[in-house]
Amino acid sequence: MKISDVKFELKRYEYYETFHITGSSRNVAENIEVKVFLDDGTEGIGEASPSYRVNGEIISSLFSLESTVKEMIKGIDVRDYAKVFKIMDGLSKSAPSIKAAVQYATLDALSIEIGLPVYKIFGGSKDTIETDKTISIDTLERMVQKSIETFSQGFHTLKIKVGENLKEDMEKILAIFEATKGAEYVIDANQGYSPKEAIQFANFLYENKVNVKIFEQPIIWNDFEGLKFVREASPISIAADESVRTKYDAYRLIKDDCVDFINIKLMKSGISDALAIIEMAKTANVGLMIGCMSESSVGINQSVHIAAGTGAFAHCDLDSHMLIKEEKFRGKFVQKGSTINLL
Ligand SMILES: [Mg+2]
Repeated sequence: MKISDVKFELKRYEYYETFHITGSSRNVAENIEVKVFLDDGTEGIGEASPSYRVNGEIISSLFSLESTVKEMIKGIDVRDYAKVFKIMDGLSKSAPSIKAAVQYATLDALSIEIGLPVYKIFGGSKDTIETDKTISIDTLERMVQKSIETFSQGFHTLKIKVGENLKEDMEKILAIFEATKGAEYVIDANQGYSPKEAIQFANFLYENKVNVKIFEQPIIWNDFEGLKFVREASPISIAADESVRTKYDAYRLIKDDCVDFINIKLMKSGISDALAIIEMAKTANVGLMIGCMSESSVGINQSVHIAAGTGAFAHCDLDSHMLIKEEKFRGKFVQKGSTINLL
């Protein structure tokens, strides 16, 4: 069935609590819902959660793409979805979240047409995945309290945001570690440290036997040599997040031995580059995690299906839908605590 129309719609979601990471605090997420319509009225849905901080994306300029996208993909049969993928690859170098949403909405429409869930189209490697939940930057007391609460809700892996003050971060992590024994941690500095601070922090975590799976984006995104320097000196695994948006970034990071892990986000890479990065990382024996921006259940659904379908991720950080207020849950999956089951 052919694509007949494309529609963008602005959605606003409030956070339950201020989401504070290095250099950024937010209370509201502004996303763009993308619908792809087929000739018979079938409606595929995707969501863009744009990021100015990471992608340089601005909502108003993304909206200006609506008619162009429609013009370019109208008339394409969704069974030939690679054609839509290619058009979005070319169109959206400065709009990767729109690329993700259009690519996914096309797959969603195809999935409805052929009666096969999207994760099955990607191979159906798994039908269950586990996610962490994020503890954003706050006072030591509040971060410990939140961590205890989240761990007791069954989240075995806590993602802890750090990066604004090395000394305070050390105190916070030790206090959280003491209060949540048995948990695992992903530590995310969101580019906050210098390379030397990052190494100091990694050694501190290791010496104190804090059970850290991954230390994410310790330093500024564009310092690939610095990342390599940190990785070589660090006793714990280092991941790139802000440093890797496209498959070309991933290629450079892998070729230059800069990282142990890559954090793929559909909002940075779209689906086409995400798939390319998965294959590259698997080939080079680099670990993979999947993360999110501020997606609602519509956007998280996209990453859930890619993660389950490909089965490629050692760690899933797909929690933004739990941090924002939504009238209605719209994921095509069921979730109980940290466990996500595909339908
Ligand atoms: Mg990150």
